[in-house]
Amino acid sequence: MADFSGKHGLIVGVANKRSIAWAIARAAAGRGARLALTYQGRFEEHVQELSQGLAEPPLVLPCDVASDADIESVFARVDQEFGGLDFLVHGAAFAPRDELTAPFVNTTREGFRIALDISAYSLIALTRAAAPLMEKRGGGSVLTLTYLGSTRVFPNYNVMGVAKAALEATVRYLAADLGPRNIRVNAISAGPIKTLAAAGIGGFSTILNVYRDRAPLRRNVEAAEVGEAAAFLLSDAGKAITGEVLMVDSGFHVTGM
Ligand code: NAD
Repeated sequence: MADFSGKHGLIVGVANKRSIAWAIARAAAGRGARLALTYQGRFEEHVQELSQGLAEPPLVLPCDVASDADIESVFARVDQEFGGLDFLVHGAAFAPRDELTAPFVNTTREGFRIALDISAYSLIALTRAAAPLMEKRGGGSVLTLTYLGSTRVFPNYNVMGVAKAALEATVRYLAADLGPRNIRVNAISAGPIKTLAAAGIGGFSTILNVYRDRAPLRRNVEAAEVGEAAAFLLSDAGKAITGEVLMVDSGFHVTGM
């Protein structure tokens, strides 16, 4: 099991106990990492409450990833507290609800802008701010969360699929850019999991059923399993892996029908 003793990580995207980012926080903290967690305004209470459950109390900070000022102040605080950073987890995504129900051809300019800004551009902004802190540690590891809707069509996933395609391309470009500084950038493509974000996708339970029936492992994945895979990629066990999208989906992606 990877040891995170003495490592410091920043985790963006915890909303509640079902959040995949929370499962990753637990996996890293359970291995000895000291964490900072950020929350989006309305989730403050949830995140403060959850953070009490970690062995070492995390730094809990507000951050709207659409705000450069928020990002700047989060990293200033993290640097002040931790004196550097070993890993960053990006688990933020959003598209306006209408974009996840209407026919894709009706995607609005504003809906597209928001989905791509929050779900893909934010990885660039956060990674840019993390890089100097990671250099203080001789390198670091960045991880984001994506979905197979980036390359295949799922009902109602719509503009979020386009945002995930952009996010995965962003992983590759960041990996190439930051590799010489020993900063790795990867994604986990998780199978469907019932979370708050998933609840916004019309017909999500049908997607869960299709995976359970057709994935090679004949079951859905649990957030904790994504947490375990994340711990691998974030730790030194994954130190030769960058620019990768690791499928954690019960093998669903290999199926033809
Ligand atoms: P979630 O709702 O628990 O997490 C989404 C997070 O995004 C929330 O914490 C929310 O606060 C945050 N967020 C949205 N807009 C933000 C903003 N402007 N600033 C800061 N934070 C913002 O749901 P989740 O399923 O755990 O999602 C985490 C990631 O996993 C997302 O990227 C999602 O697309 C991805 N993912 C989810 C599934 C699934 O089936 N649940 C599958 C594959 C990938």
